[in-house]
Amino acid sequence: MNPLLVHNPATGELIATLPVDDDNSVAAKAVRARAALPGWRATPMVEREACIARFAALVKAQIEPLAAVMTRETGKPIQMSRNELNGFLGRIDFFLSQAESCVKTETVFDDGSMTERIEHTPLGLVANISAWNYPWFVGGNVFVPALLTGNVVLYKPSEFATLSGLEMARLLHGAGVPSDVFIPLVGGGSVGAALMEQEIDGLFFTGSHATGVRIARILGPRMVKLQLELGGKDPTYVCEDAAVKNAAQSLADGAMYNTGQSCCSVERVYVHASIYDAFVAHFVETVKGFKIGDPMLDDTYIGAITRAPQLDVLDAQVADALAKGATLLCGGKRLSGPGNGYEPTVFSDVNHSMELMREESFGPIIGIQKVTSDEEAVHLMNDTRYGLTAGVFTPNRERAEKLLAQINAGSVYWNCCDRVSPRLPWSGYGDSGIGLTLSTYGIQTFTRPKAWHLREP
Ligand code: NAD
Repeated sequence: MNPLLVHNPATGELIATLPVDDDNSVAAKAVRARAALPGWRATPMVEREACIARFAALVKAQIEPLAAVMTRETGKPIQMSRNELNGFLGRIDFFLSQAESCVKTETVFDDGSMTERIEHTPLGLVANISAWNYPWFVGGNVFVPALLTGNVVLYKPSEFATLSGLEMARLLHGAGVPSDVFIPLVGGGSVGAALMEQEIDGLFFTGSHATGVRIARILGPRMVKLQLELGGKDPTYVCEDAAVKNAAQSLADGAMYNTGQSCCSVERVYVHASIYDAFVAHFVETVKGFKIGDPMLDDTYIGAITRAPQLDVLDAQVADALAKGATLLCGGKRLSGPGNGYEPTVFSDVNHSMELMREESFGPIIGIQKVTSDEEAVHLMNDTRYGLTAGVFTPNRERAEKLLAQINAGSVYWNCCDRVSPRLPWSGYGDSGIGLTLSTYGIQTFTRPKAWHLREP
């Protein structure tokens, strides 16, 4: 097996060479995890909670080195790496506060002779195949509630965030989670494929639609619980009564944060014609103010494109938009120098014939389209195969709620964007996936509700 070569996407430098798993080692890890299941399942909730609380304390104590690891392997600007780790601690707090009540056995009927009860039993062996763009968030959304609810976890971090994945394992084990209860796997797609061949009780995937479809085809006939958190092409509509400058600044951040590599990045903007020119001017001014540079520096806002092949996707979307008549307002090409850099890119005069408005860009590039009515905006926002998030900017809450009720998206935003809350479910419509994480539902999803019918003799 060739080792996994980890490169810093901002410099091209080789930063680690890791031995990878193969079919045999994946199978052996699955056997170890399965054997550890009865013991972990029988461990009292209070002890499992104590492990996760100690894990959080270890993460908190090591935010700086953990942020540096994440930035070096993904090119994420260091402040955003710190933000992710701090946000991750908030998510753990939420899970710790809710896990016990989520799995408490409920008596839903009792008339003296018949009792009906719901018991939340762990799924068992949970496989998690994860993405690189927010490794702590998307990994933790699965393994924290899965472990709390008594499951054992085989965790395959993305090959572009493996060093962070191994840090998660190191700290979980240091916090007292047995080494067979949480086991990391190292490697790319072939290791993910080998993981699916094992006797697993749930597969929780975060990544691209193309890989999600491949996984669903394989696991579908096996009746394994499957969750797929996939991509998006998330729209926002700016009404004519919106505070133009605020909306432009907020949406420029929503489009370009994490160098545009968020599943809920703003990917399409629709602006009412009466404020279109002013909005576009503020938007471009904001984008031009974003500091591009070394992700390790505190003031860098635009870092690296983590996966080099994505540069070709961005080039193709730019060429397609230009060929179909869009106006390029800034950016439009790769940054010179080492590493995978792309200029923050803004287009106006775009339409839905362009790839830029139809397919996930996953980079610092955005199209702004003019609309003349709420009806047109709703039609265009729903004209997509995805449905992760969508937003509306207007001071009028009633109007916003009426508009957002018509949008096919798992999360909807009024006067905000690119936002995730641990208290709310995270899910998508259409090709954005199936299942959910976060919220109390995102804890119960790691359990099987077992129905008890008990009749007194
Ligand atoms: P990807 O599909 O390329 O890879 C995801 C994971 O799948 C990796 O661990 C990879 O090794 C593994 N994999 C690849 N081929 C496989 C196969 N044949 N069998 C099993 N596993 C396989 O996606 P990515 O580039 O890591 O992530 C980017 C995508 O993830 C974007 O589309 C983004 O929108 C999406 N994403 C979605 C969410 C969400 O919550 N909905 C969150 C983060 C990222």
